[in-house]
Amino acid sequence: MVKEKDKKEKPESQKAAKEEKPKQAKAAKKTGKAEAPVEETPEKTGKVEETEALVETNAEKFEFQSEVQQLLHILVYSLYQHKEVFVRELISNAVDALNKVQFESLLNSDIEDKDLDFRIDITMDKDKKKFIIEDTGIGMTKEELIENIGTIAHSGTVEFIKRLSESENADKMNLIGQFGVGFYSSFMAADEIHVHTRSYKKGSKGYLWKSKGDNNYTIEEKGKKHRGTRIELFLKEDEKEFLEKYRIKSIIGTHSKFVPFPIYLESEKIDSKEAIWTQPKSQLKEKDYNEFFRFFLNATDDPETYLHLSSDAPVQFNAVMYVPKVNSEIYGWVKSDPGLDLYSRKILIQKACRDILPEYFRFIKGVVDSEDIPLNISRETIQSNIRIEKIKKFILKKVFDHLNDIKSKDMDKYLNIWKNFQRNFKEGVPNEFEFREQLASLLLFYSSKTPEDKYTDLDQYIGRMTGDHYEIYYVMGANYDAIEKNPALEAFKKKDIEVLYFIDPMDAWAVDHLQTYKGKMFRPVEAADIKLDDEETEKKKQEDEKEKEQFKDAESLATCLKTIYGSRIEDVKISQRLVDSPCVLISSKSGPSPQLERIMRLQNQKADFSKKVLEINPKNKLIQEMIRIHKVNPVSQELKTLALQLLDNMILREGVIEEIDYIVPRIQDIMYEAAKSFLKEETKE
Ligand code: ADP
Repeated sequence: MVKEKDKKEKPESQKAAKEEKPKQAKAAKKTGKAEAPVEETPEKTGKVEETEALVETNAEKFEFQSEVQQLLHILVYSLYQHKEVFVRELISNAVDALNKVQFESLLNSDIEDKDLDFRIDITMDKDKKKFIIEDTGIGMTKEELIENIGTIAHSGTVEFIKRLSESENADKMNLIGQFGVGFYSSFMAADEIHVHTRSYKKGSKGYLWKSKGDNNYTIEEKGKKHRGTRIELFLKEDEKEFLEKYRIKSIIGTHSKFVPFPIYLESEKIDSKEAIWTQPKSQLKEKDYNEFFRFFLNATDDPETYLHLSSDAPVQFNAVMYVPKVNSEIYGWVKSDPGLDLYSRKILIQKACRDILPEYFRFIKGVVDSEDIPLNISRETIQSNIRIEKIKKFILKKVFDHLNDIKSKDMDKYLNIWKNFQRNFKEGVPNEFEFREQLASLLLFYSSKTPEDKYTDLDQYIGRMTGDHYEIYYVMGANYDAIEKNPALEAFKKKDIEVLYFIDPMDAWAVDHLQTYKGKMFRPVEAADIKLDDEETEKKKQEDEKEKEQFKDAESLATCLKTIYGSRIEDVKISQRLVDSPCVLISSKSGPSPQLERIMRLQNQKADFSKKVLEINPKNKLIQEMIRIHKVNPVSQELKTLALQLLDNMILREGVIEEIDYIVPRIQDIMYEAAKSFLKEETKE
């Protein structure tokens, strides 16, 4: 059927005219933008034969968006492997186009060729070295041609192209697969491409788009009998393998097995597989799910895990969902689209549906199909549809059960998921209300009670709580070592109380929104209101008169320090929590939470921070020396220098580098004094 149409559409005279066309296009002036076509001037086209002149005056020349030019350059000049992917990409575009027109035809009776079968035809013309793929899909108007295959709409394109040009060849194909630049991949195998297309919209005209994969393309009006798109690839000299039927058949067998529309290869119908989600679970094996995953995502590897759900009541639906083994967002470009496609009775209603899984689960890919969803549901009403609401709840609960199940039964597998998608889980906490606890139970943390690279979850932490330990303590730091050295941990270590280590700034952010887990409050170790009263020290303190005296002197030093620091510090106090370190900075109760402050600081070092309390430890030798100096001369220059450096050390420790111009000379002064006294000691000996 389609082949016949081809013949009718191409009278010999037009073909001759078409062959002349590229010469004219080369002579044409370049335009800066795709939106500003350059009309061929009569001087250039000349008044030749009637038919030729007609085609020439009709053709407009456009320049590809610069990202497309760069991409084409990479595709044409640096990719030599796996060129066959273009077949898969073109079939997948045809499927999209058919899905769309199938959907439209159900809603709207006023479309072109309403009774035309939905199908894909692939033919090869060995004489002309052409590979031709035709669909009866949605087609394109002239504007759509310019928009869809002259530009790339993805917002991360620039970043993507940069990575693509920097990456190894083997990775290039992977990146291309992930990003989806399907149509353009045909230029790996073809010198020139013609796209004949006619939109499904009633009364649409046919257009012919042509390009040689350089910086330009042309569009001309050209009759096309039926709705849909025919793409003709003029194959490169050494790509003749794509003219062989057996070769194309095997590519379809590998990559396009689940295509939901009939594919005819040189008029032979190719066998395809049933939509996997409608089949009973008992008849499916892991390899079937993996196969569908590779088809669905154009992936080369298997998924990390899959989940097949079916329900008849209260709402009928089937769903097959996957967690992939890689996270495309780690390549650095934009947030990926939602991962679930919504179907009703195998008809695609909405690709990348936003309303089934919450945004943070966008990495879960798959299909949801429900007979109970009306086909004519508008995209706006999907959100408020009561049945969708029920499906959503059911699915979300099952996804949490599934992930938690993996976590408890197969930690290695879970760690792979965690490695790739932990940011999504943490990102989700503030936005998840109903299943917040289930989401929190998926979180993993480093802890003072686990080896350095091992995680704990919150249930395990709670399980280890003993005695009067009834809150979940945590401490933040740039890395494991920095955390271990944090003086605020000393008392916790001494009392053997477990503390979670937050190395990823998003840990603190998530916990700040969680506030509690299973009724237990989260508390930063530095929070000013933590009292870990060490009874032993208390007793000793009362008994030991000398120590009492020391505390009195320390109190006096604290008052003196407070005057030196002025408005930089809210208060200076004697610490009850330090064992060895000289001092610690504690957040004041009224300021922003320490986790929020840390994130603010990461973003802007000069942010105005809350005032803090400096706690000093009278048992530390540096503080004892400072007490001695203070007793001899309550406010000497030396004491002032030491005091300022003591505070700045703590601020530096928190990762804030302010007033470094004062700090460095001051450290040098202190070093000079130290050096002098060192020599004095030497000569004494
Ligand atoms: P993607 O398919 O990932 O969007 P492509 O570069 O393969 O990227 O295609 C760009 C766009 O061109 C498609 O989104 C679609 O709008 C349009 N397109 C491509 N092939 C067809 C086709 N056979 N029928 C209708 N439109 C098509």
